Amino acid sequence: MRLDINSSILIFGGSGTIGSSTALHLARKGYRNIRVLDVYPIPSAQSAGNDLNKIMGTSLRNPVDRQLSLEAEDAWSNDPTFSPYYHRSGRLDCCGSSDVINDLRDTVAKLENAGLGHTVEWLDTDAQIIQRVPQLASSNIQGWKGIFFERGGWLAAAKAIDSVGSELMRHGVQFSFGDSGTFQSLILSDDGKTCSGAVTKDGTRYLADRVVLASGAWTPSLVDLEDQCCSKAWVYAHMQLTPEEVKEYVDCPVVYNEDIGFFFEPNEDGIIKVCDEFPGFARYKMHQPFGASKPTLVSIPRSHARHPTDTYPDASEITIRKAIAAFLPNFKDKELFNRAMCWCADTADANLLVCEHPRWKGCFVATGDSGHSFKLLPIIGIHIVELLEGTLQEDLREAWRWRPGSGDARKSRRAARAKDLADLPGWKHDSVDTERETQITV
Ligand code: FAD
Repeated sequence: MRLDINSSILIFGGSGTIGSSTALHLARKGYRNIRVLDVYPIPSAQSAGNDLNKIMGTSLRNPVDRQLSLEAEDAWSNDPTFSPYYHRSGRLDCCGSSDVINDLRDTVAKLENAGLGHTVEWLDTDAQIIQRVPQLASSNIQGWKGIFFERGGWLAAAKAIDSVGSELMRHGVQFSFGDSGTFQSLILSDDGKTCSGAVTKDGTRYLADRVVLASGAWTPSLVDLEDQCCSKAWVYAHMQLTPEEVKEYVDCPVVYNEDIGFFFEPNEDGIIKVCDEFPGFARYKMHQPFGASKPTLVSIPRSHARHPTDTYPDASEITIRKAIAAFLPNFKDKELFNRAMCWCADTADANLLVCEHPRWKGCFVATGDSGHSFKLLPIIGIHIVELLEGTLQEDLREAWRWRPGSGDARKSRRAARAKDLADLPGWKHDSVDTERETQITV
């Protein structure tokens, strides 16, 4: 059945990044029968996008990524739903190791080829880096080289999703949260080939023309994705600055070092977020997602919203402290708080997985964010609507296709496979041993 503006569309994960964007662009195109479903209200307390800040930058990994990040930059700059949340502080990508310095040089060459060479500056000495980011300590960056991106900066992430939520309400989009928004199973035709809706945790049956599963890191545990995505956690911690310290760091560009991590200028409450860089953590359980013929080992997110006493492994405290010592040596003894893990879905090739499920006509997956997709919030929904309408550009369709067996999502394009949280002490602080659970813990 062709889609028209009266078609009914369910969007699971609609309080998160990709799902809210999908609902937004359906609503902007005049679709009248859209329902956002999620475990939590928008912005979902467990969305990877429910965060103080995320990096905005141009990705040059391949033509599809480049097109999307340029579209996103334009929307963050000009779309009133998003522009208040784009802080154009600039971004420094820097490093001291020869492999990464070679990658940085390669990035400059790619930018020049793309006609974007004028938007960046190559920083060849620590003195040049300090000129751009005076907050760094010269003694800590000896031998580093860098690229300064005029166009980059950071995005006030949770506030931007909240802004999408306000626009969705103005459009009259319907919402179901809690057990009545939590995906449980699909409703299939007798021959099992067509999806005509979904059932939620409280037993509600929603009939629909299209079902979109944009449930982020939870998607591989909800439906059978044939091992194309692996859910992994990355970590962050916050530190509180005094008003005097804030003055020194306000307008500081985002600083990113692939070997160490990254940090952002303080937000309006004087809080700095620091992240380390590593291949992620997984949480493997035997589990049978909807449509799988038997239980298999699946990495299942453990939501910080549901387990607020969770922090991160002891190993992360060491690497976060290392990042602070390198970037912010004056704050190396500062108290950290809000230590947290946040969950994403890696694909083997780090491209999204956005396509119709080949076994169930009418059911679409929109996931595989691979840890770099928040910046797409303003525009990813445009292309998901194109997919639903059958007009998606061929190269996007090809990059986002169903592709089981095409690589190892557990490693993806990272340095190593994600370590299992079961082997890492320090992150679990609740009194009951919930790790014995074999059920999904959403
Ligand atoms: P989410 O935003 O997590 O949304 C998934 C939604 O599904 C949630 O709302 C959840 O509640 C819902 N859900 C789960 N289970 C169910 C269910 N059973 N039924 C219904 N709904 C359900 N990206 C960048 O671009 N720049 C950055 O600097 C950056 N930094 C990052 C730093 C960290 C520490 C992390 C973890 C990620 C970072 N990312 C960054 C990646 C970015 O956050 C993700 O790529 C993006 O937010 C993923 O969007 P999503 O819609 O796939 O998932």
